[in-house]
Amino acid sequence: MARGKRFIATSAILGAVFGMLCGDATGAGERYGAVPDSVKQDLDRLVAAYPDIVAGHDNTFLTLKNGTRFRISDGRTDKTFQELLESPDIDDMFFVRYPAGVEPKQPDMNSDPGRVRFAPLFVAMYGDCKKNEVAKNLRTVKWLPKHNGGSVKVTAVNGVADALARVSRALDELPDDLATYLVPAAGAYNCRNVAGSRAPSMHAYGAAIDIATRYADYWRWSAGEQPRWRNRIPVAIVRIFEQHGFIWGGAWYHYDTMHFEYRPELLRR
Ligand SMILES: [Zn+2]
Repeated sequence: MARGKRFIATSAILGAVFGMLCGDATGAGERYGAVPDSVKQDLDRLVAAYPDIVAGHDNTFLTLKNGTRFRISDGRTDKTFQELLESPDIDDMFFVRYPAGVEPKQPDMNSDPGRVRFAPLFVAMYGDCKKNEVAKNLRTVKWLPKHNGGSVKVTAVNGVADALARVSRALDELPDDLATYLVPAAGAYNCRNVAGSRAPSMHAYGAAIDIATRYADYWRWSAGEQPRWRNRIPVAIVRIFEQHGFIWGGAWYHYDTMHFEYRPELLRR
C-alpha cells in the first residue's frame, strides 16, 4: 500500500514536471490576439485583395462598399489558440506570415497562416451557405480537362472561379505524372464547418478546393499527441496555386496538404 502511494506521488510529480516541460516546448500556454506589427500593410493588402467588396480601412475599421464596418481589433491579447481560431478579429488573421514561395518544411508550433478567418467578413463576401446564399454564385470549373479531371464548383465572387480556371489550365500543362496528385479533385464547395470547430470552412464559401486524396496528409490522421508534419505534394503544384491567389494547407502546423483556398491577402503580389 505504502509502496503504491509512493509510486502514485512520484508519478504525479513526474507528470507535473513533464507537463510543465511540454507546456514550454509545445507552446500550449501561448496567448494570441496582439495586433501584428505589420497590420498597416496587412490591411492594405486585404483591401487590395478584394476590390469588388472592400472599400478601405482606417486605424479602427475595415469598411465594405455596402457600408458595413468591421472593427479591426477586439482589444483581446489573451486568446488561447482555440479562441484564436473560433473568435478572431480582423488583425488576428495576420498573426503569422504565410510562407509564399518557400520550400515546404515543418511549420513552427501553431503556425497556421490562413487558418484564422474572421467569419463575418467572409460571410459578407461569399454569403452564408446555411441560408442558401452561396450556391447562387457557384460556377462550374473544368478541372484539368486534358487529364479527364471532370469539374468542380466554386464561387464566382472575388473572381475565385476565374482564378481556379487559370490554376487548372496551368496544372494541365505540368508533366503528365503530376496528374495523379490532382485528379480526381476531392471536392470544392461544401457547406460545412472546419472539422472539430465551430468555424466555417473555406469550402462553405465555395472558395477552396481539395486536390486528389491519393497523396494527401492531414494532421488529424497523424498519430500521437502533436501533429507530425508530412507532405508528399510536389512543390510545383503549390507554386501554381500561390501564383493565382490560393494558399496551401501544407504550410500549416495543423497541415492539410490536399487543401487550397483563395486568400490573396496573405500572398505578396
Ligand atoms: Zn479542404
